[in-house]
Amino acid sequence: MSRPVSYNLIQKPLEADISMAPMPDGHQGEGFFATSLDSVIGLARKNSIWPLPFATSCCGIEFMATMGSHYDLARFGSERVGFSPRQCDLLMVMGTIAKKMGPVVKQVYLQMAEPRWVIAVGACASSGGIFDTYSVLQGIDQVVPVDVYVPGCPPRPEAIIDGVLRIQDLVGKESLRRRNSENYKLLLESYGIQ
Ligand code: SF4
Repeated sequence: MSRPVSYNLIQKPLEADISMAPMPDGHQGEGFFATSLDSVIGLARKNSIWPLPFATSCCGIEFMATMGSHYDLARFGSERVGFSPRQCDLLMVMGTIAKKMGPVVKQVYLQMAEPRWVIAVGACASSGGIFDTYSVLQGIDQVVPVDVYVPGCPPRPEAIIDGVLRIQDLVGKESLRRRNSENYKLLLESYGIQ
C-alpha cells in the first residue's frame, strides 16, 4: 500500500528554489565582467566555509538543530562539518569552556590552517555566561581571537545562522593581505601565537 504524499502538492518552477550567490562588485558591460582577485576569492571562500564544531554543552544541541533539515546550514555552503582542525576554516565554540579546556581550544585553533575564523556561540563561550565561577573561562577570547559573538543562552538556530552570515560578510570582504599584515601578527602575538 502506498503512503499518502502530503507535501510538494504545489509544484514550483525549479529556478524559484535556487538562489545564486550574488556577484561581487565589479564592472560589467555587454560580454564582459571584471572584478578584483580579492572579491573573487572572497566570494568562493564565504560560500564554502567548513565549520569545526567545538561543542561542550547545551549550545551544541542548538547547533545540531541548525545542521538539521529544518534550519539546514548547508544552504550557506557550510554543510561539510569537519572534526579535523587541519581541514576546517571556521572554529565554532559552543558551550561552557572550563579553564582546563582553554589550552585545548587553543591547540585546536593552532592546528587550523590560515585563513581561519572563530565564532563564540552563546553566552558561555562569549563571556562565561551564568558561570561566574573559579573553574569556568570567562570567554574564549581569553585564549583565541574571536571574530563573531552570538548572544543568547542558548541562542536559537536563527541566531547561529545569523552569526555564520556575519562571518560570511567578514570572509567575503577580507583582503588577501590581511593575514600577512603587521596588525594581524600583533593580534596573534597578544595571544602568545607566533
Ligand atoms: S550559553 Fe546557556 S545554553 Fe549555552 S552552553 Fe551556556 S548555559 Fe548552556
